[in-house]
Amino acid sequence: MEVTDVAQTALAQHAVIGKMLEYNHEQLVFCNDNDSGLKAIVAVHNTVLGPSLGGTRFWNYNNEAEALIDVLRLSRGMTYKSSVAGLNLGGGKAVIIGDPKKVKSEALLRRFGKFINTLGGKYITAEDVGVNTRDMEMIHNETQYVAGLPVSMGGGGDPSPVTAYGVYMSMKASAKEVFGSDSLTGKKILVQGLGNVGMHLVEHLAKEKAVLYVYDISEERVKIAVEKHGATATTPDNMFSLAIDVYAPCALGATVNDDTLSKLKCAIICGAANNQLANEKTHGELVTKKGILYAPDFVVNAGGIINVYYELDGYVRERAMAHAEKIYDTTWNVIQTAKTEKIPTYIAANRLAEQRIEAISKIKIRY
Ligand code: NAD
Repeated sequence: MEVTDVAQTALAQHAVIGKMLEYNHEQLVFCNDNDSGLKAIVAVHNTVLGPSLGGTRFWNYNNEAEALIDVLRLSRGMTYKSSVAGLNLGGGKAVIIGDPKKVKSEALLRRFGKFINTLGGKYITAEDVGVNTRDMEMIHNETQYVAGLPVSMGGGGDPSPVTAYGVYMSMKASAKEVFGSDSLTGKKILVQGLGNVGMHLVEHLAKEKAVLYVYDISEERVKIAVEKHGATATTPDNMFSLAIDVYAPCALGATVNDDTLSKLKCAIICGAANNQLANEKTHGELVTKKGILYAPDFVVNAGGIINVYYELDGYVRERAMAHAEKIYDTTWNVIQTAKTEKIPTYIAANRLAEQRIEAISKIKIRY
């Protein structure tokens, strides 16, 4: 090997280690298997609070750098989500590179399971985009470090009722701050997205006699919300111009952006969708300037990871629901921290997550 080649390699290696330094990761594992075509990266971000847990994403990335950045960002996000939710879990994530429709096979998934197993429980995987329950079963053939399994396989099953309950709790805590009472009776609430989580949320809100406006690209889902829960259907053109109290994004990410914020007339944003702020810094600050209380998405939608956590110890739904109820207190703490320290709520949530990790890392030194 020429000296220049050695230097190039060193540079490339540093680019990876450099990214780990930037994101403060503990470990990155690159997996390759020529026979099955498996190419994967497992990122263990932080294990101070417990084993790292996060789903495996199977995605046709344009290049390896894209896959690397995705797995680094997503695993770090899991550390914060679990920490602020008060779980004894660290943050991790895995990506399998390739088009699942073309390259997914039993051999590839089982090989991936074997790689996870070599980590000895430092990383526990679950479903994510491109990976379904059947795939988890394949991975589970090779490792016990799998969570988010269906009830038939000893898992917790559909997490969405737990997630929706957490969103509902978070919305009540936000209402207490803004309106002086956590009652949502008579409050005008727009729910965008009536999928597994959105529809369960609508159920809770209808029971409390909130005034509901709903939108989903599926007419079928809108019909159910209107006929069963007394909601009013709205359209993409006018939903952000309605005079409402709460906007609950429960479909896609990035719906809190320049366009929607120029129209939105609401006091609270609180919903289940991941990555609601199109740009965390810009829009996290803009909502505050506009006097809107933004309940940070990873605080609000932690019911999903809470559900998975309770699976690790013999699943009992009541325990998961009881923990999801605490999202009320977590949201309240985030809001009070933001107020006291005069910072946007998303920064307050990050700070609380970091403080818990730091405090727990100190008690562990005594072992
Ligand atoms: P889902 O796929 O069951 O539902 C999504 C719904 O959004 C569907 O009904 C779909 O038709 C609708 N939709 C898609 N595009 C839309 C658009 N442009 N406008 C309006 N509606 C649209 O998903 P889910 O499990 O209900 O999750 C909802 C959101 O919450 C997702 O962003 C998900 O990542 C997040 N989340 C879910 C959980 C969980 O436990 N399921 C946990 C944490 C976060």
